[in-house]
Amino acid sequence: MRNTAVDPKELAFQKECIEKIRKLNSAKKQMPKACVITYGCQQNENDSERIKGMLCSMGYELSETREECDVIIFNTCAVRENAEMKLKGNVGALKYLKAKRKDVIIGVCGCMVQQKEVAEILHSKFRHVELIFGTHAIYKFPQLLLEAKKSSVMDVEDCDGYIVEDIPVRHDDKYKAWVSVMYGCNNFCTYCVVPYVRGRERSRTFENVIAEITRLAEDGYKEVTLLGQNVNSYGKDLEDGKTFAQLLRAVNEIDGIERIRFATSHPKDISDELIDAMAECKKVCPQLHLPVQAGSNKVLKDMNRSYTREKYLETIKKVREKIPNIALSTDIIVGFPTETVEDFKETVSLVKEVRYDSMFTFIYSRRRGTKAATMDFVLSEEQIQKNFDELLEVQNKISREINETYAGKTVEIFVDGYSKNDPETLQGRTPENKIVNFKGDSSLIGKIINIKISEVRTWSLNGELE
Ligand code: SF4
Repeated sequence: MRNTAVDPKELAFQKECIEKIRKLNSAKKQMPKACVITYGCQQNENDSERIKGMLCSMGYELSETREECDVIIFNTCAVRENAEMKLKGNVGALKYLKAKRKDVIIGVCGCMVQQKEVAEILHSKFRHVELIFGTHAIYKFPQLLLEAKKSSVMDVEDCDGYIVEDIPVRHDDKYKAWVSVMYGCNNFCTYCVVPYVRGRERSRTFENVIAEITRLAEDGYKEVTLLGQNVNSYGKDLEDGKTFAQLLRAVNEIDGIERIRFATSHPKDISDELIDAMAECKKVCPQLHLPVQAGSNKVLKDMNRSYTREKYLETIKKVREKIPNIALSTDIIVGFPTETVEDFKETVSLVKEVRYDSMFTFIYSRRRGTKAATMDFVLSEEQIQKNFDELLEVQNKISREINETYAGKTVEIFVDGYSKNDPETLQGRTPENKIVNFKGDSSLIGKIINIKISEVRTWSLNGELE
């Protein structure tokens, strides 16, 4: 078993740094402000909540307005190439702020800068960015921030990753929380940078996960989403032999927690034990995100996904037998280098056969350092775009048809808050993760209530209070 613990002396030092910055900040006339801008997946959102937690412990007030902040951190994603362009645009736009207020600290962290060559380019081209740190250095943020106040710092460690408990967390929501149960990935799908930037699979102990969720329940949290790049691998590196299915069952027993979700599952690792646990645990929502990525065995092999189309469909069948009301979602990459028109047709036929509730479709994005980045493209950009549009059209029709089955039904929703598009409308989610919009007052936020569906849309449902 690999040692993933950080030296306790190092952690004690981080606490000292938090205290030092807190003292400096409390001597200021006005409470300093900070913001964290997050790109990418839920795991990144969870990391940002830890950075925000540390900032609050250091005496910063969180703000959404970059211009008024004393510390601005960009937590980046490496999955798509355009995210890199977007980040450079956003970071570049802050040059004027640094010129105006020399004491502002602008930092970039996360997966993108865990790639050393990207970190170095950023460091040399964006001199106003004084703090750069990779995914394995998040726990060192207090120390790095203290150092950045004197001169620019870069900490990108090439390692398999750690597990660090007890970092302060500031959750973005009052009722729903992300809980990372494991980190990293061992799968090396040929298109993906995650194993290079997030390190090897490592699980938090059963006790630490349960203790965190128990604390969340005591603080009034009602829904948890258990996170990992591949949650089905949870426990494989632990000595006590605990599995993800056992973890789900234990979380299901925690008083106060009413809904449990999880992401992401790798189709090759989904076990009968997990499907049974999902079916038997009342609080586990009938929702499964199972990224298929492609419907052709040849492309799946080139992607190193370690399952076949047939095996995937067999898993879906098993899941549906045990959990008939399961809502399925998936990720699909269109235009993987070796994908032909015939291969793409197999993806379309798989989508029609499974009938997902929703789908996240991406055009393949070449990531440096991955095996797929060396492969030649079979299809032209135009053809790939055409295929992408076709797939969206197929899925939109299916999503709409599935949503139509909700018309006139009463559903139980967890009320999240006001809709981003309409501040007068509340929004919640069904156990199947369908978004439901309705009119109501703010006292309903954080409650589970019944709503009668009156209007169906492709991506959401509208309804009225019962
Ligand atoms: S399973 Fe594959 S796609 Fe998912 S994070 Fe690991 S390498 Fe990336």
